[in-house]
Amino acid sequence: MTQAPEKMVIVSGIQPSGNLHLGNYFGAVQQFIQFHEGGHACYYFLANYHALTSLRDGQRLLNLTRSTAADYIALGLDPGRCSIYLQSDMPEVCELQWLLTTVTPMGLLERCHAFKDKAQQGIPSDHGLFAYPVLMAADILIVSANRVPVGQDQKQHIEVTRDIAQYFNNVYGDLLTIPEAFIPESVATVPGRDGRKMSKSYNNTIELFAKEEEVRQQIYSIVTDSASVAEPKDPEKSMLYAILKLFCNLEEQAYWQDRFRSGGLGYREVKQAIFDRFMEKFGPARDRRKELESQPEYVDEILKRGVDQARKVALPLVRKVREAVGIPNN
Ligand code: ATP
Ligand code: MG
Repeated sequence: MTQAPEKMVIVSGIQPSGNLHLGNYFGAVQQFIQFHEGGHACYYFLANYHALTSLRDGQRLLNLTRSTAADYIALGLDPGRCSIYLQSDMPEVCELQWLLTTVTPMGLLERCHAFKDKAQQGIPSDHGLFAYPVLMAADILIVSANRVPVGQDQKQHIEVTRDIAQYFNNVYGDLLTIPEAFIPESVATVPGRDGRKMSKSYNNTIELFAKEEEVRQQIYSIVTDSASVAEPKDPEKSMLYAILKLFCNLEEQAYWQDRFRSGGLGYREVKQAIFDRFMEKFGPARDRRKELESQPEYVDEILKRGVDQARKVALPLVRKVREAVGIPNN
């Protein structure tokens, strides 16, 4: 990692493709908050153009976009310290995407997991999925970001962004800032209820804002082995421990590791502990989220202000890029 400048530009987004879950919080939103508390210039957006690669129900996308914006605010993103906006309110990202596309080698995109996995499984994929990393590069480069807080699954896409920016700079001069991913090891991949990465699209999530009974049901359906209560268990092999640990400080982690290893710990007790810790941690955000339900104008106002701020840095960059490639600014 290069020496971090004191004040950095931070950018990241979440797709409004489903309800926010523990993986989104620990893998992304928690770091978003840390960066804005650190006084950096932070841009957090709802990637609704990206969501179109997995969601083809217009009304549902609109509803999720609105509700995810409220989720962001309820979780503690402070509109006074960061810009929160809809990707589609800055349509210049699509223009920049095209300009970047023209310097992006096919091979770079063909190597990307999201696309390759589908192709290998014989699932037909569309150009949207193939070009997804270029749109993501545009989101990042348009605000000249230094750091991008994301989960491990996005690491490759950030590397692609760096490559694309370098290709562009080699041809047209040093206009684009080369960003770095920010992925804290302990939260890089939050496992889902079935042991795969927790993902909105895998139906294996624990949702941050589901009704209390649904949250309980989701937590109680985390897959476990059939070990009896009496048996000692290896916490490092337990998905339950991997999820519980997210809520624990080092001392608490040591306590639970010991309980796992000593035997006499039943999975029900661990599930109850996860549920209790979940409610303790997210209770205030869940209350705030309910209040925001009746304040849609407030959320709209924040999004409007957010995009105005983001465009202040994005549009001058787009103008410079147009100039460099020979597209007239008007
Ligand atoms: P989808 O299934 O539609 O791709 P998703 O659940 O993967 O949805 P995204 O909107 O793609 O969510 O990702 C938003 C952010 O959350 C990204 O930075 C991503 O890396 C992070 N993230 C998503 N799932 C996890 C996870 N299980 N662990 C850690 N980070 C995650
Ligand atoms: Mg994803």
